[in-house]
Amino acid sequence: MGRSEELFERAKRVMPGGVNSPVRAFRSVRLTPRMISRADGCFLYDVDKKRYVDYIGSWGPMILGHNFPEVREAVLRACEDGLSFGCATEREVQMAELITQNIPHVEMIRMVNSGTEAVMSAIRAARGFTGRNKVVKFSGCYHGHTDAMLISAGSGVMTAHISDSAGVPAGCVADTLIAAYNDLQGLTALFEESEAQAKGEEDKIAAVIVEPVAANMGVVLPEPGFLQGLRRLCTEHGAMLIFDEVITGFRLAFGGAAERFSVTPDLVTYGKIIGGGMPVGAYGGRRDIMECVAPLGSVYQAGTLSGNPIAMAAGLAMLHILKNNSRVYEELEERGSMLFEGIRTIVREKGLPYQVNSISSLGCLFFTEHPVKDYETAKRSDTESFAVYYRKMLEKGFYLAPSQFEAIFLSTAHTTTVLNETLEAMREAL
Ligand code: PMP
Repeated sequence: MGRSEELFERAKRVMPGGVNSPVRAFRSVRLTPRMISRADGCFLYDVDKKRYVDYIGSWGPMILGHNFPEVREAVLRACEDGLSFGCATEREVQMAELITQNIPHVEMIRMVNSGTEAVMSAIRAARGFTGRNKVVKFSGCYHGHTDAMLISAGSGVMTAHISDSAGVPAGCVADTLIAAYNDLQGLTALFEESEAQAKGEEDKIAAVIVEPVAANMGVVLPEPGFLQGLRRLCTEHGAMLIFDEVITGFRLAFGGAAERFSVTPDLVTYGKIIGGGMPVGAYGGRRDIMECVAPLGSVYQAGTLSGNPIAMAAGLAMLHILKNNSRVYEELEERGSMLFEGIRTIVREKGLPYQVNSISSLGCLFFTEHPVKDYETAKRSDTESFAVYYRKMLEKGFYLAPSQFEAIFLSTAHTTTVLNETLEAMREAL
């Protein structure tokens, strides 16, 4: 037994499933998780000293690769001044200024500590601002584990085959309406139906929340016109459009999917990326909505560790690099097209009917012959075959996300050599 297995045996006795987040348990690929001890560039190292090429990048934030010198040094310098004050700081001001000055649709922003918290708070702000209760989410989109969003969620919930979570009272999801991704007609019908049934303003739709590129049911791209259609419908019906950019923000462009697709949401949520790997989230957007948040307005939301100085130092260091080096985004495009075009070539040559969905540094190989455009089509994937492929890739030293329904994340640290080695391994594994 290796040290990873030993540690996992211990972990299972004292932590549910041996982990602090379900996908890490490697259940859908039926393996024991590798216990990771350090990471550098595009590599992870486990406690048995085996090296892996990492394709999850801490599920998003490692856009520049792990242990990036400027980010690490910013954290070390910040630590010298103390770890947390619970008071207002200069770095929070710098962070808010950096974002609001460079992302036009974010006029004000509030830091929180996770993507879950960002979504929960943004929805509360949208409800408080509109005086309405209903929220639309798309099946297969994951917005964290806040009660109201744990319905038809993707990702970990998808592989665990639980459609809804226990412990979520029906009342908590009673105001959550579900639509299909890429289906504007369905959403139109939902708006009309809920308005026809509404007895008062509070029964109408306060917000539509969407992953502008869905990355928790594998990777599913918005069809041309889908995001623009969401914008139009929300405006017509007085609902707030919330882009959950926890994965796409600062990755698809500095201004995220909103910038890339030229669609302006009313509110946006960010997560881990904004902290350069430290636990951070944020929500922001239109000034008139954000002015409803306490202490200015009556929407209460707070956080002892929000805007934590170490997390802000890490995030600021990374965001400055992303902002000041346009090459970063060009490189992500180049690496993405090399890897994902390479995978397309392999499956074509092998006559495998699989689908490759990708955009820039995000992508997914779906083990299905049907084009994947929403939750229903994603679910048709052959997860058994994926698990076999996964195990082979891990054995060869390539750490992909241990689920068919997660994205491959690239960074600027993935060199051409590493990508070629990856493609060679994929060719054999497939
Ligand atoms: N929204 C999206 C789009 C996500 O991908 C995630 C998690 N990956 C979340 C929200 C929740 O973020 P967290 O895990 O930081 O709570």
